[in-house]
Amino acid sequence: MSCDAAGVVAALRSAAEVVEAHRDELVTLDREIGDGDHGENLKRGFTAVLSKLDNAGDTPGAVLKVVASTLISTVGGAAGPLYGTAFLRAAAKLGTEPELTASSVVDALAAALEGVVARGKAEVGDKTMVDALTPAVAAARDAAGSSVAEVLRAAADAAGKGAEDTVPLVARKGRASYLGERSAGHMDPGARSTALLLRAFADAAS
Ligand code: ADP
Ligand code: MG
Ligand code: MG
Repeated sequence: MSCDAAGVVAALRSAAEVVEAHRDELVTLDREIGDGDHGENLKRGFTAVLSKLDNAGDTPGAVLKVVASTLISTVGGAAGPLYGTAFLRAAAKLGTEPELTASSVVDALAAALEGVVARGKAEVGDKTMVDALTPAVAAARDAAGSSVAEVLRAAADAAGKGAEDTVPLVARKGRASYLGERSAGHMDPGARSTALLLRAFADAAS
């Protein structure tokens, strides 16, 4: 993948395919501890993103800004504003730089996490997407001296582990928290989708 706007567009097309392929899985996870719409919400959002990618912009930041506004206006639920904020903060951090670097990707991921936390007020261990994104940012930081592909791979690996680690947790934020102790024993759908998106970006970059 190139690290310019075209490369980011290609990575987003891959992400949209991954979301489509995992739509039912995410719905099933959300049915266990939520209202069963997470896969459909994200699929709707990324289908809308696909329709905007042809003229999304000349820099990675400009493209991600379009992704953010599209997700905010189409995904809905809890995840829409959270993912929208994540992409918006990442876009703002990248500014007008023409090409991603390993260190700018680390900074963009960190900004995305900050945005999600500012918006949703979840802490690590609350059984949300923060449980995937927080270790992803830490792992990305550790890999900052390598390539964009390596940073994203490290982030995706850590997010996958973080999502798995949500299984035993009791939810303290979002709809799943209404279940109390009964939320334990299921993976958080938003943590899973965060891991899937990062894996899609990593695969596109390598
Ligand atoms: P809804 O719960 O409104 O139906 P979704 O099903 O699309 O929305 O998204 C649910 C996911 O959103 C959860 O699995 C969780 O990861 C994430 N989430 C919910 N509330 C928060 C929060 N306050 N902070 C971070 N993530 C959250
Ligand atoms: Mg839901
Ligand atoms: Mg819902």
